[in-house]
Amino acid sequence: MTAQREWFEKDYYAVLGVQPGATAKELSRAYKKLAKEHHPDFNPGNKLAEDRFKEVNEAYDVLGDAEKRAEYDEVRRMVASGVGPGGFGPPGAGGFGGQTFQFDDAFGAQGGAFSDLLGGFLGGRGRNRRSATAAQRGQDLETELHLSFEDAVRGVTSTVRFRADATCSTCHGSGAAPGTSPETCPQCHGSGSIAVDQGPFSFSQVCPTCGGRGQVIPTPCATCHGRGVEMRAREVKVRVPVGVTDGQRIRVKGRGAAGANGGPPGDLFVVVHVSPHPLFGRSGNDLTIRLPVTFAEATLGADVKVPTLDGQVTVRIPPGTPSGKVLRVRGHGVPGDANGRNGKQGDLLVTVDVQVPDELDERQRSAVEELAGAFDTDPRAALFAKQDNDRSSDG
Ligand SMILES: [Zn+2]
Ligand SMILES: [Zn+2]
Repeated sequence: MTAQREWFEKDYYAVLGVQPGATAKELSRAYKKLAKEHHPDFNPGNKLAEDRFKEVNEAYDVLGDAEKRAEYDEVRRMVASGVGPGGFGPPGAGGFGGQTFQFDDAFGAQGGAFSDLLGGFLGGRGRNRRSATAAQRGQDLETELHLSFEDAVRGVTSTVRFRADATCSTCHGSGAAPGTSPETCPQCHGSGSIAVDQGPFSFSQVCPTCGGRGQVIPTPCATCHGRGVEMRAREVKVRVPVGVTDGQRIRVKGRGAAGANGGPPGDLFVVVHVSPHPLFGRSGNDLTIRLPVTFAEATLGADVKVPTLDGQVTVRIPPGTPSGKVLRVRGHGVPGDANGRNGKQGDLLVTVDVQVPDELDERQRSAVEELAGAFDTDPRAALFAKQDNDRSSDG
């Protein structure tokens, strides 16, 4: 029985426990919950759960795809009006009379929504249980890369190492034992699909003999048992772009696990961990630093040297600069990049930090006391004046 023929008999909405008018979000939520609940990895050896898992996936493979769902709804409307796959009403009655429909196979070789979703919340463990011979896209992999603050700012090319499915070194991915080669599939003659006629419908189905590859392997490679991939230590060069931030994921297309049976490789995601810097912080593309200055420098103004990531610059502290004031030194932040993906060149943001001495010698003490005498206005006078104002306006 082909998948589409089942459309006449199965109520996928009931399978997912939603109303026929459910939104895509409601469907997705119901599917995720059920798929997780019945996933074979969580129910080892439980045949009931396995069947239910298949059923739920079947349902969502159709309802989760807007186009397939529209076709399915059309079929269900025909069912509701008493039309079945073997007995159509007069031409025009349901809009289907006398026509031949070619449906895409609902379980095509490419995985689709089902494996994408599972990959999202099960770390890819549920993927590709469909057929032992179908081409399978390799899993997406995730690995980590630790970078110094400087490398993250400037960009770097680094190497990550991990173990994963790689193209089989014995057969170079063909799956055929050395000295032999894959042959054209005798059932589909290389097309990968076969046509199944069901009354007025003609269904296209993935060839069960070759799983859609169009080829069969008479003598499988002993290393990989015909899958074309084997677990191996891998090294992948990663170009870390300028200005990456801690926690950012870099996608390296096609460098994930090798696909089995001639399928395409998955992608590699590299999660970047950036070490903190003893002097500098980051705020987007700006670098930040706290700059200690004396009371005299802040009051009278001064030109002071400030470290940058690649040396030092002289920064002018204007007279009367309060503690906490942020001075912007153009450039000297995270570089922008040519294609603009990383945004504009950043600046160095210098936060003035007026130092208060916690120990004074005799000379300093008398100088500060003299200073205190010279500043005899009360700096808090304005606070109390404001408080009095508020009180009188309240009352
Ligand atoms: Zn091999
Ligand atoms: Zn075939």
